[in-house]
Amino acid sequence: MTLFPISVVCPHCGSGDVFYSCKPECCYNHVCNTCYTTFELDTTRVGEVTEIFEVPPEPDADSPTAPCARCHEPKVFAIVNSGAPPRYVCVACKALLTLEYTEIAPAQTSPSS
Ligand SMILES: [Zn+2]
Ligand SMILES: [Zn+2]
Repeated sequence: MTLFPISVVCPHCGSGDVFYSCKPECCYNHVCNTCYTTFELDTTRVGEVTEIFEVPPEPDADSPTAPCARCHEPKVFAIVNSGAPPRYVCVACKALLTLEYTEIAPAQTSPSS
């Protein structure tokens, strides 16, 4: 089983140019670099991971990050299986997770731009 850093696309425009703009101590606000929509990532626990896995290196501070639904650690990585919908795992407590977007707020378009 191989784990990868979370990768998300903008829920508004579909751009993959998304970065995490805050800190886990504060919130999980992300910003789309294309349309400036902001959103947060959240997880839901759907099971337990029993397979052995290697803990990947910490991703960059501005790469997409989500809190574990169970232990709230920002140590959630994607399990990539070709053909299957992505699942996520918390490397701190081994919860099996799904990822959701919350607080989606498209940028206000100003008439003068
Ligand atoms: Zn966007
Ligand atoms: Zn956890």
